[in-house]
Amino acid sequence: MRHFLDLDDELSVWMGEHGHPAFRSKQLRQWLFEKRAVTFDDMTNLSKPLRTELADEFQIWTAQIAKHLEASDGTEKLLLELADGGKIECVLLREESRRSICISSQVGCAMGCVFCASGLDGVDRNLTTGEFVEQMLRLARLLPAEERLSHIVVMGMGEPLANLDRLLPALDIASSPTGLGISPRRITISTVGLPPAMRRLTKECSRYNLAVSLHAPNDELRNQLVPVNRNTGLKDILAEADNYFEASGRRLTFEYVLLGDLNDQPEHAQQLAALLRGRPALLNVIPYNPVAGLPYKTPSVAAQRRFREVLEKAGLNIQFRQRKGDEINAACGQLRRSTPSVLSLEA
Ligand code: SAH
Repeated sequence: MRHFLDLDDELSVWMGEHGHPAFRSKQLRQWLFEKRAVTFDDMTNLSKPLRTELADEFQIWTAQIAKHLEASDGTEKLLLELADGGKIECVLLREESRRSICISSQVGCAMGCVFCASGLDGVDRNLTTGEFVEQMLRLARLLPAEERLSHIVVMGMGEPLANLDRLLPALDIASSPTGLGISPRRITISTVGLPPAMRRLTKECSRYNLAVSLHAPNDELRNQLVPVNRNTGLKDILAEADNYFEASGRRLTFEYVLLGDLNDQPEHAQQLAALLRGRPALLNVIPYNPVAGLPYKTPSVAAQRRFREVLEKAGLNIQFRQRKGDEINAACGQLRRSTPSVLSLEA
């Protein structure tokens, strides 16, 4: 059976081939994305034969919700078990009127950032377009009928720029008025910084916000924290980020996970300020969220303040990200393929 959520424009082609008028695909998408239908049979303004034809050929859902956790700050996390048994996590965040979701792009991650839970078991495979869309719809269904998703960040497990072929069609659906209708301005792709893929994004699709995970102001330190940096280097990453900005006109975001005693010293802040000076960018500083079994620690409040002061003095546009959902391990870098067993005992 084919995954219905994998279909983008192919849906109207399918309708044509099966002798149905094109507007049927619009109705169908309305059922899915606006009315949050669960089965083809819920779609009562489609004829019974069409519903049967669809149900014979397609399945709408391929994943199971293996776990659903809710934190007291309103954050909810779903652990999805995919058709082949692979596991991914995705998160709904509530902040005033915002209803943001953080979705995964791969089962696991190959980037190996030393402080992050998602890469601990390596990467298994890329998600399909349908699996991206399924995360969006599953999370949307956690909201009451009168609420809509407002923002998407592709910042969960995996490296989205290593899976652009499947991600971009999914974001087309997310941003289409006949899909989830979320403005591309409210969609952010976060990358460890893969220059060739950044170049491709600049060329093919500069509608979305781009966030680049830096974590270090020089190559020596970045090579330690983000091992793929040995093949890329900060210079190329920043050059590609600038190119993206030129094409998109969108302010760039740089992310910096603040690790106690590792990259949180005033000299790091000074170097970072020098590196980013003159760029129309927002620096998103994320105090480290602890990961069971890893030795890294959240910097003290005083160290965080010192770091911030240096950057503010240098005139950088800076934001400290609030920790959300960490009581259910749903915060940045806490999403993982497997539930920690041995690891959490050691922690
Ligand atoms: N691969 C992409 C997207 C996933 S990571 C990327 O690297 O950007 C999303 C963000 O969470 C990154 O900025 C990442 O560095 C950060 N992160 C990872 N582990 C973290 C942790 N334990 N605490 C805080 N932030 C973390």
